[in-house]
This record gives sequence, structure tokens and C-alpha cells, in this order.
Amino acid sequence: MTPTDSDTANDLSPRALNLVNSGIIVLDAHHKIVLWNGWMVPRSARAAARVRERPLFEVFPELRGSRVEAAVLAALTDGASTVIPQTESRAPFPLREAGSFDGPRIEQAVTVTPFRDGEQRYCMIEIRDVSGTVEREKRLLDHAESLRARSYVDGLTGIANRRYFDVALDRELRRAQRMKGELSLLLIDIDSFKAYNDHFGHQQGDTCLSTVAQALAAKLKRPADVAARYGGEEFAAILPDTSLEQARLHANAIREHVAGLALQHAAAAHWPMVTLSIGVASFDRERLHEVPALIEAADKALYAAKHGGRNRVVVDGDPSA
Ligand code: GH3
Ligand code: MG
Ligand code: MG
Repeated sequence: MTPTDSDTANDLSPRALNLVNSGIIVLDAHHKIVLWNGWMVPRSARAAARVRERPLFEVFPELRGSRVEAAVLAALTDGASTVIPQTESRAPFPLREAGSFDGPRIEQAVTVTPFRDGEQRYCMIEIRDVSGTVEREKRLLDHAESLRARSYVDGLTGIANRRYFDVALDRELRRAQRMKGELSLLLIDIDSFKAYNDHFGHQQGDTCLSTVAQALAAKLKRPADVAARYGGEEFAAILPDTSLEQARLHANAIREHVAGLALQHAAAAHWPMVTLSIGVASFDRERLHEVPALIEAADKALYAAKHGGRNRVVVDGDPSA
């Protein structure tokens, strides 16, 4: 008599089950282990012969009261299947990479499926190792996070970019409105920078921009202060909880600090060293309570600083502004 195809398949199925790349446990109606595949052996450090006929919850007492126990009960009493994704439950089975007794647990996605053989009820527990997936997901999240962070950073100077400035100014202005607080804005422009580029070359111009940006950022001490590259050779500083007069002092300190670096300027420049002109304006409930009006006021003050001879600070409301 020749064996049929299905006989052959039956002979092969235990071997195939041992090659499956996930853990397979079959329990009878009394929660006793009737099948424990090869994947489980090295990861649990328990041979099939040691666990067969023993209740699962005696082999792994920590599973009592867990999602896995609830799923097994649901399968054996109600015939319900359950999927326990990795995210829903800390790796429930004490399984580790083969040979690693105190390494981290394998991240697990567990499926519990009921089935019958005649009158007998069983359930199959399948445990998939999703450690790689979890790692990959974490890497993707980290990557997305760093892209998001980078999209707010100016590539040349490393300080916040215009996009960040727009978001931050809008946020801080609304906060000042809500809290009836103060908020000041500095618009900062490097003097005679075209002459600098013409004299030293564009590349050294870039280096100079970076130096000035770092000097500006270093002078802003409070965590909520924002130093940003506003565009080209223009910068901006957002100073929450800062009055117009305090902002004037800050602006002058920044101006003096940069002039004090004594970065040699082009002969054609207004001043022998690299200098800044700064326009200052503050949030004001009546007049300057919207972003465009606040920027315009600071810009007007900056223009007055240029007109007044550069290397100076002009504040919104000053006679020259
Ligand atoms: P003012 O004192 O009136 O501000 O004169 P200025 O020469 O600084 O003003 P202007 O706006 O005429 O020139 C700005 C110059 O800044 C021109 C431009 O080439 C230069 N610039 C803008 N962005 C960059 C940059 O990213 N790198 C370099 N090296 N130069 C830049
Ligand atoms: Mg300019
Ligand atoms: Mg300029």
C-alpha cells in the first residue's frame, strides 16, 4: 500500500512545526501543554519533554492574571480568538535570545486561537518575535524626530531658522495676550555686509555670519528667548517677559558684544569692525498686538538705526524711529 499525500503531510507536520519561526504552544482544556515547538526550547531554556502535560500557568506563574491568561480563558470557554500586540502588554513570556539568560526579553506579539478535535477543546498560542520591528519603528521615529528638529534649524549658522521664528513669535505673542504679559522683539542687521563680502569673499562672509549668530545666541540667557536667522544677514531675537526698556538694554549688550569681538571689516564699511544695527519693539495691547504690526515697528526702528549711522539700537517710540 502506498502512502497518500495527506499521510506524508501528517508525517512531516511535527518537523515543519519545529522549523516555524515563532513560538507555538498548544494547551488542552485544562491549560496543560500538549505541544511546545522547537522555537520555544532555546528561548525559554525548557525542553518540550520538561513542560509537556504541565499547566502553562505553573510553568510560567507570572502569566497568572495577565492578558495571556484572559485570552486563554476566552479561547477555551467562549471559543474566542485574541491578538495581543506588542504595544498592549510588556513582553508577557519570559523569553530571551537563545543562550542569553539575563538579556532583555524578546518583544512579543501573541495570538491565541481556539480549535477543537472532536469533543476536545484546545487553544494555540503563537508568539512572534517583533524585537526587530520595534527597533525599526523606534529608528524611524527617531529619524522623523531629527528631521523635524532639523527643519527648524538654519543650515549655515545652527541657530533657529525663519520658520521656527514665525512659529515662535506667533506662539509667544498669543501667550503674552493671554497672560497679559510682556514680549519684545529685536530685528538685527549686520552693517555694510555687502562690503564685507566684496572685500573678503562670500565664504568668509558665511563664517562671519556664523560667528555673529553664535555671539547673539550666547547673549540670550533665558530658556524661552529665541535667537533666529531672519534671512540673509539679518537676525531676530524674541524676548518673552521683557519690557521695551529691558529689551533696549539687551539689544545694546548684544551690539557691544559683537563690536567688541573686533572682527575686521572691509575698508568701505561704515565702521572698522563688524557691527550691528538693531530695531526694538514690544507687544502692546492697543497698537502692536499682531505679528505683522510688531515686525513692522521693529523694522522701522532698525531702519532708523541705519539712518542714524549704524552700530546702534533704536527703540520703537524713540524720536528717530
Ligand atoms: P546695511 O548696513 O545697510 O545693512 O548694508 P548691507 O550691505 O549689509 O545691506 P544689503 O542688504 O545691501 O546687503 C546684504 C548683504 O548680505 C548682501 C548679501 O550678499 C549678503 N548676504 C546675505 N545672505 C548671505 C549669506 O548667506 N552669506 C553671505 N556670505 N552673504 C550673505
Ligand atoms: Mg539686510
Ligand atoms: Mg546689512
